[in-house]
Amino acid sequence: MHKGKALIEIRIAGLSNGIHEYSFTCTAQEFDDPSLTAPPFSGTIAVKVVAEKTDTEVVTDIETTVAAELNCDICLAPVHRQLTGRFRIFFIFGSPDGTERECDEEYRVLAPATTDIDLTEDVRETLLLSLPVKVTCDAYPECMPTAQEERDIPGEELDDDAQNSAWKESLKELKRKLD
Ligand SMILES: [Zn+2]
Repeated sequence: MHKGKALIEIRIAGLSNGIHEYSFTCTAQEFDDPSLTAPPFSGTIAVKVVAEKTDTEVVTDIETTVAAELNCDICLAPVHRQLTGRFRIFFIFGSPDGTERECDEEYRVLAPATTDIDLTEDVRETLLLSLPVKVTCDAYPECMPTAQEERDIPGEELDDDAQNSAWKESLKELKRKLD
């Protein structure tokens, strides 16, 4: 958990209704999270926060941009990627009105006395979510995504069948010779 001064924070006390934009720059090290620094993120992390305030809520859009040094899943070659992560959070003022919101979006209730919203944890998660599940280089044809898809369909079984039938053929041939 993040302690001490918030790395990414917006002040909502006295904030007028409307759209407010904030820009932050930080480094992965500042998040104090090994999963951000152990492999990938390098250089400066740019964080853009757009907050739209109304009488009832603050809709907050987070966008992170960062360079990452990854490795190809197949050949382990270094892969440099520019990653963008996005996350939207609805901060609702006061007590929830009791209506169920059928939505996947993130809703949080702000205490009436809230003066600042700490977004550090959300930015950290946005960064982690921006990491690609699959990483492939484009240096070798076998690393291309299309090559992987071909590999996923049971190509090896086909090879086995072909091998089997070739083996059966030679067995038949042998039998024929013996007969
Ligand atoms: Zn590769």
